[in-house]
Formats: sequence, C-alpha cells, structure tokens
Amino acid sequence: MCDNFRIMKALRIHGNKDIRLEDIPEPVPGDDEARLRITNTSICATDIEEWQFGPLWTQHDGPNPISGQEMPLVLGHEISGHVESVGSSSTGVSIGDRVVVNNVRTCGRCFWCRRGSQATCNSMCVAGLSADGGLAEYMTWPSSHLIKLPDSISDREAPLIEPATVAVHAVRRSGVKVGDNVTVIGCGTVGLLTMQAFRAAGARVIAVDVREQSITLAKSLGADETINASDAGAHDQLLDLTDGIGPDIVAETAGAAETPKMAIQWTRPGGTTVLVGIYSATPKFDFNEIVGPEKTVIGSVAASPGDMAATVQLIADGKMSVKELISAVVPLDNAIKDGFERMLRPEKDVFRILISPSG
Ligand SMILES: [Zn+2]
Ligand SMILES: [Zn+2]
Repeated sequence: MCDNFRIMKALRIHGNKDIRLEDIPEPVPGDDEARLRITNTSICATDIEEWQFGPLWTQHDGPNPISGQEMPLVLGHEISGHVESVGSSSTGVSIGDRVVVNNVRTCGRCFWCRRGSQATCNSMCVAGLSADGGLAEYMTWPSSHLIKLPDSISDREAPLIEPATVAVHAVRRSGVKVGDNVTVIGCGTVGLLTMQAFRAAGARVIAVDVREQSITLAKSLGADETINASDAGAHDQLLDLTDGIGPDIVAETAGAAETPKMAIQWTRPGGTTVLVGIYSATPKFDFNEIVGPEKTVIGSVAASPGDMAATVQLIADGKMSVKELISAVVPLDNAIKDGFERMLRPEKDVFRILISPSG
C-alpha cells in the first residue's frame, strides 16, 4: 500500500444522465507527464450533450488506445492549471508553470496522422472525453501537450483557449483570404471566437444570430455587420451587404436543425461553407444546390497540432478576446447545480461557466 495515496474531488460521467461529484484517487504522473493543480475548467455544450444524450464521444466501447481509459471518466476538456510535479522524462514545462492543456492527442502512426490530418486520427484521445479531464482538483497529461501561458492571459481566460482553437482550426480549414466577405451563423461561444479568428485573418465578417444578447456581444467583439436571422428579410440583408453576390465563406456554428442548409444556401456560387457544429437533426437537402453553383462544403472538428499555439499567440496579441465569454465562476463543489443544471435552462443566457477547483 502506497503511503501517499490521496483522494481528490472529481466530476465524472458514468453514463446517460449520470454525472457524479465523487472522491477518487489523485492521479500520479507517468514519466513523460506533468501533474497539474487545476485552476479553471469551462463547461462546453459538448459536456451537456454527453450528459443528456450521450455517451456519444465519451469513450464507452472499450478503452481508448492512447489513454487506456473508458467511462467512468472525469469530464472537462477546456482546462488550465499550474504544474505541480513532473515525471522523470518530462520536458518543456517546470514546476510552477501556468499552462493550458492541449487536449487532443493522436497516435502519430495511422494513415491520417502520417498525412497530416491528425483531426481524423482513428485513436484520437481527448482529455475529458477519452481520458480523465479537468473537472477535478488534479489531472495528469503529457508535458508535450501543455502550453505555457504568457502573462497577458489569465488563469480564468485560459480554458477558453480550447474553444478558440476549434475556431482557429475552422478558419484555417476554410482557406480564407484577406478581404474576403465571411458570414458566421451562430454567435455562441465558438461562433464569437470564429468571428474573431476570421477578422484576425483579414476578413470582413457579418455575424448572424437570433438572440439580441449574442448579436450585441458580436458587435462589441468586432463584427463588421450583424443580422438577426429571425428577421423575414435576413437573406436580403446579407445580399445587400455583399453587393448582391453573397459571402465568399459561410461558417455554421449554431448546430441547429436548419442552419447547415441555410449556411450552404447563403454561400455565394463558387464559395465555401464550413460546418463547425455537431448536428443531431438530419434535414432534407437538395444536393443540386451544391453541384449547380459549384460550392465547396467542408467539415471542421477539433484541432491539428499547432492550432493551439497559434491561438495562444492571437489571444496574447489582443487579436481575439475571450474574457467576455465567461458568464460565471463556480466552485467544483457546486459544479452540477450551478454549472451543468444552469446550462440546461431554456434561457440560454450563458456562454461559458468556469468551474474553479482552486483558481
Ligand atoms: Zn468543447
Ligand atoms: Zn493517428
């Protein structure tokens, strides 16, 4: 029996509609890992979906090949912490460093990894979905997948680097060019970050939502124009703003039943639609609407190596701002009531709720 066997609090998913705040053994870092004292982890819509409708992405059909873990797992994939100890062969971070967790690990050996498409790796391991994540007092993670935070990014802002990385990945995949007209449908957390990443790439961005609160925030975060999609003339407004042609790129981040169809229809002939949402509905769609006007439709999920470091730089340089997206900070003890259950409320008045075990 180990003398220093200690217990910590963690929020784990055990299955559909089954999350529990419980006491589990503190993790011990492997040779190439660091142990983090978690400062803040934000709750993502994916966590809510896994809890209510999952397990979908949560590892549940055998252990993940990289982590060796499966449910029950500690949730939380948007994570910041302080390095508390390091394994014997761990390099790149030191005790006391403030870090953000690069939550995506890939095998490096499969067909996809070898051709540079790590986001489609067969063995992909994501902290909080296929390995224990950040809704706990401590976690361990390979040091190679920890990024040191510059002084200009606070421990509270840092978890938002993860959804910002998803946005940067989508913008990189879109092939945007300086001066392009871009429309972002959906001004939730990922939408507002996608909008900012497109602006950082030199595009003119029109933000679209149905919620006035989100439209107001889009304006204050730099949207060049905004449209309320519940207006009857929303598409005409978009055409007016783009010389009657339509946007070069439409990014869909709302994930609603009709929004992917709308995104394709609103893209100009020869333009590109980027689908960033995760879709539960299966709308009917006439594919001739893609063929005739030669549109390109691409999907974007997670991130590739290098996307997170680029995102840290964009935030540090003030080209993307995340602090406006923090709606509340809640201690780990209240994570279910004031975090997960609040996210379920119909008001949809929160962007990100931070759970703070020690921040
Ligand atoms: Zn997420
Ligand atoms: Zn792979």
